[in-house]
Amino acid sequence: VDNVEIVVVGDGGVGKSCLTLRFVCDEFREEYNPTLEEAFRTQTVIDKKACQIDIVDTAGQEEFQVLRDTHLTVGDGFLIVYSITNQNSFQFVSKLRGQIHRARSSEDVPFVLVGNKSDLEDSRDVSTEDGKQLAKDWGNVKFFETSAKTGKNTKEAFQECVKEIRKHRQPK
Ligand code: GDP
Ligand code: MG
Repeated sequence: VDNVEIVVVGDGGVGKSCLTLRFVCDEFREEYNPTLEEAFRTQTVIDKKACQIDIVDTAGQEEFQVLRDTHLTVGDGFLIVYSITNQNSFQFVSKLRGQIHRARSSEDVPFVLVGNKSDLEDSRDVSTEDGKQLAKDWGNVKFFETSAKTGKNTKEAFQECVKEIRKHRQPK
């Protein structure tokens, strides 16, 4: 059985906790809003292989603090999340990525880029093209527009992160 730790990062309010809850419990709660970091464990099968996934739902880094969190250095992979309704949160993901690279002294880190709240098309503030382009600029990382509310692409984003972690673990 694989054991992987996925760390969910992104600006406050982008839906990190809701995405985590959707993936772990297949639920959406409008008022669900833990402001503390929380960890969850779930088991699944990906590519016919069992996998135990620890998910760290981070909180509190929205004030441009240096991310001192130990999970930044020990996490196996990152779901790096912005909201398609918030351009600032999209600008923030590049800062976060830089912080993670610095914390690990490495650029070889499994990432998946996630634009959440795709159900709020009327309030869109970041185009799909801009998301795709950023993922390309980051070295062709996987990119998903998700909705924690409807569940769209949520499972796919987490599963893809596990796949990236597995790839990264293979001896080169
Ligand atoms: P976090 O600070 O990144 O953990 O964000 P939360 O998960 O607490 O979500 C912040 C707010 O956005 C809450 O009011 C959620 O109900 C709402 N939200 C989160 N994900 C979605 C989504 O996919 N669609 C919509 N419409 N609202 C969402
Ligand atoms: Mg949260």
